[in-house]
Amino acid sequence: MTERFDAIIIGTGQAGPALAVRLAAAGRKTAILERKRIGGTCVNVGCIPTKTLIASARAAHVARNGRDFGVVIDGDVRIDMARVKARKDEIVAQSNRGVTNWLENAPGVTLIEGHGRFESPRTISVNGRMLEAPEIFINTGGRPAVPKWEGVGDVPFLTSTGMMDIDFLPEHLIIVGGSYIGLEFAQMYRRFGSRVTVVEMAPRIVAREDAEVSAAIQAMLEREGIAFRLKAECLRMDKRDGGVSVHVSCEEEPREIPGSHVLLAVGRDPNTHDLGLDRAGVATNARGFIDVDDELRTNVPGIWALGDVNGRGAFTHTAYNDYEIVAANLLDQDRRRVSDRTTVYALFTDPPLARVGMTESEVRATGRPALAGKMMMARVGRARERSETQGFMQVLVDAETKRILGAALLGIEADEAIHCIIDVMAARQPYTAISRTVHIHPTVAELIPTLLGSLLPLQ
Ligand SMILES: Cc1cc2nc3c(=O)[nH]c(=O)nc-3n(C[C@H](O)[C@H](O)[C@H](O)COP(=O)(O)OP(=O)(O)OC[C@H]3O[C@@H](n4cnc5c(N)ncnc54)[C@H](O)[C@@H]3O)c2cc1C
Repeated sequence: MTERFDAIIIGTGQAGPALAVRLAAAGRKTAILERKRIGGTCVNVGCIPTKTLIASARAAHVARNGRDFGVVIDGDVRIDMARVKARKDEIVAQSNRGVTNWLENAPGVTLIEGHGRFESPRTISVNGRMLEAPEIFINTGGRPAVPKWEGVGDVPFLTSTGMMDIDFLPEHLIIVGGSYIGLEFAQMYRRFGSRVTVVEMAPRIVAREDAEVSAAIQAMLEREGIAFRLKAECLRMDKRDGGVSVHVSCEEEPREIPGSHVLLAVGRDPNTHDLGLDRAGVATNARGFIDVDDELRTNVPGIWALGDVNGRGAFTHTAYNDYEIVAANLLDQDRRRVSDRTTVYALFTDPPLARVGMTESEVRATGRPALAGKMMMARVGRARERSETQGFMQVLVDAETKRILGAALLGIEADEAIHCIIDVMAARQPYTAISRTVHIHPTVAELIPTLLGSLLPLQ
């Protein structure tokens, strides 16, 4: 027997739960499906657990450097990995319970645990049940990509998800992938006490950033003892006594790096392969991401795709914004679009890199006259007081409109300080809206008006 709903949502990631509650509150009988852990990637194996582990790693780092601050710890600083994991599990469980309770108690929402699959453009099968609705929302997210390199199937590799089960210290962790996820794990495990080597195929880490940013982050991590092997090629893995060997070159020595464990952090694939999309006629691109328009509609009327699965964002805040866009268009007659969104994200190393808008190379590529300002974090009082002066802040401004085009803040509390720039960009105001504003002393954000007061033509 087919069960009829007004809306079906597949996946309980960062868009689905809020949308389910909103649709139900608007009087639409809504089913939401989850095949694994409620709350999806961010809550269970992504943002929350990694930032919780990063907090443990930072506690270790601060304890080791306490002497510089006049704090003396007699004896070694040791890491109890079982406790590190237990703390992470407790914090994840709280969030997971929070989303579960929210969905279970939302009037008009039916939470169904199981794998949803399209049977037609209007019907979804789950656990032998058949559900039907005129509106279906796909929020199935993604999973760690596992490349088909030689030997990958023969070695016990880890992914960002597998890392969540670790309650021991790898002796030498080789991380393949020098991008956001890989670098967060690299610093975290180095601070826990592992030897860490990052293997990257590109000539530099976080290659989508400006070269200067990549170099500064690499230098910062090298100072903590992390090794880098860039331009790696002929990637191959072999089992070794008590570990794994990663082949990084066909010609250049050393050709292989032996380690105790290997983490593959080489991107994420969308969860669309097992969704029966062909039965609904939903189109995807060559990499499997669902094609959507500016309001997140797929090519099939009545079907939307939100979050990582549409390839229009890869973050919790973009997935949540997808929910806001769909809800505004469907329920509030308020036309919101993906193209209204400014690109924002952070790399949560310590100190973090916070980014908004265009990089310097992207600005240069447009050929438009631009102004640029740069300030070293060593000039920032807050950074000096904390003895954390690594990094710099850089901002780019359109010379004609005076609008901020982009910024990269690498330094202590950059992930918070950048929001004054984000808000002025979103408000489509000129940079003077910040440079004439009084900020609180002594903060990092306090220096952003000064930075904007030092703009020079981008040469
Ligand atoms: C290690 C790591 C760290 C991260 N850190 C950050 C960070 O600091 N900041 C940030 O903004 N982003 C971060 N992200 C990215 C962030 O987690 C994702 O962008 C976000 O979770 C995307 O949410 P989503 O709504 O697309 O779906 P997801 O959160 O991926 O959830 C999708 C859900 O759908 C379920 N599902 C899939 N297929 C089906 C099906 N057929 N039937 C039923 N259920 C199904 C899945 O089980 C999953 O629970 C991180 C990711 C990782 C892996």
